[in-house]
Amino acid sequence: MTANLPPLPDDPLAEELDSFIRDHRLFERYRELDRSPEFPATEYRAMGRDGWLGLDRSPEDGGRGLPLARSGRLLYRLAYRAGTAFAKLSLQPGFASVLGEHGSKELIGTYYRPLVRGEVLIGNHLTEPNAGSDLRALATIAEPTATGYLLTGTKSEAAFARDAAWAIVYARVPRGSAKGDLTAFLVSQELRGVERELVPDLGERWMRRGRVRYDRVAVDASFRIGEEGAALGYVLPELDRERALLATIYLGVARASWDEVVGRVGERRVFDRPLAEHEAVGFALVEDWAELEATRLYAERTLERMDRGERADQDAALAKVMATRVALRTIDHAIQFSGGAGYSQELAHEQRWRDVRSGPIAHGSTELLLRTAARRIWRST
Ligand SMILES: Cc1cc2nc3c(=O)[nH]c(=O)nc-3n(C[C@H](O)[C@H](O)[C@H](O)COP(=O)(O)OP(=O)(O)OC[C@H]3O[C@@H](n4cnc5c(N)ncnc54)[C@H](O)[C@@H]3O)c2cc1C
Repeated sequence: MTANLPPLPDDPLAEELDSFIRDHRLFERYRELDRSPEFPATEYRAMGRDGWLGLDRSPEDGGRGLPLARSGRLLYRLAYRAGTAFAKLSLQPGFASVLGEHGSKELIGTYYRPLVRGEVLIGNHLTEPNAGSDLRALATIAEPTATGYLLTGTKSEAAFARDAAWAIVYARVPRGSAKGDLTAFLVSQELRGVERELVPDLGERWMRRGRVRYDRVAVDASFRIGEEGAALGYVLPELDRERALLATIYLGVARASWDEVVGRVGERRVFDRPLAEHEAVGFALVEDWAELEATRLYAERTLERMDRGERADQDAALAKVMATRVALRTIDHAIQFSGGAGYSQELAHEQRWRDVRSGPIAHGSTELLLRTAARRIWRST
């Protein structure tokens, strides 16, 4: 039986993106990065040079200035063809939007624009060993000095713990109130008092996550991003936007596994019939298709609403919840219906599953996002 695969969502830049992926062997690199984890610096620079970092970022900063809905379609395609790694890297300028949108002119010119060009890698240090979902528990302190601040605390779960040259670090400035509100700083990872430690991961191994300790690290006042105490207000809109874009990445990756297994079960014969004709297999894959596509349209509608300037934080959160759930189930079916081969590392399904598995945890866990949505539905009277 021949598989009749639905077309991928189209975009005027689709062919240019496909050539970039082919020329730079991004799928092969995605597979290699799992076996030999490292930051893909060469590809990152090429992505910056050819305009594949920060699709929605302003042209002034070096981005393409695309609407979010188009960015989502291209990220879906990039994830479909080359896995999570390069699609997530493409979002890196978005993950540093606090710097790009609230940093001083000097910080933007010297650090943010080079990031969009793929010349420098900047991490995000928000989570701490005792504070992830509950940001009220963040305890890193930025103590004011005559010229700036002394940063003390431990950040955990951080992507690029080894490879980032700089990080946006969130800390409390204890002025007036005992705890202080969150303030963001751009901090060189080479400063005295910064200590980095890697923690091996289930998937996304190229990110080389870990813990970073700050022990009275002196940060000049010119490296503060925006106003003291204002950082939470800066980072929340970023999280909303990135959740909806991440949803498109998880769906694109799952679509790749779906296409592959659909082809395979059409050809593989068991008990004198193609596997696809056995309803336990064929119907499950049809349902996966419907849910993948419905969730993609939900994410796209959410991004279109954000493009129109409408508030869509709840839909963005739920799009990520749905996308990770549907993607993990679809990839799991691809493993299952490929039989023993599906469990092996010869096929990409198991890597895709491990990589997507971070989705229900990072950028707001599923439970946290559902809790927020539930609080909107049932208001206490
Ligand atoms: C691949 C990956 C990359 C990451 N990169 C970064 C990074 O670069 N920088 C950074 O700062 N952080 C990063 N994180 C951290 C991530 O944002 C946190 O892990 C996440 O916010 C959850 O926080 P936590 O780990 O402290 O879990 P906790 O907050 O301790 O939660 C533990 C569990 O309890 C659940 N839970 C929490 N509150 C509730 C509730 N009220 N009701 C029900 N269940 C609840 C959670 O959903 C979770 O399942 C990354 C994580 C991953 C997996």
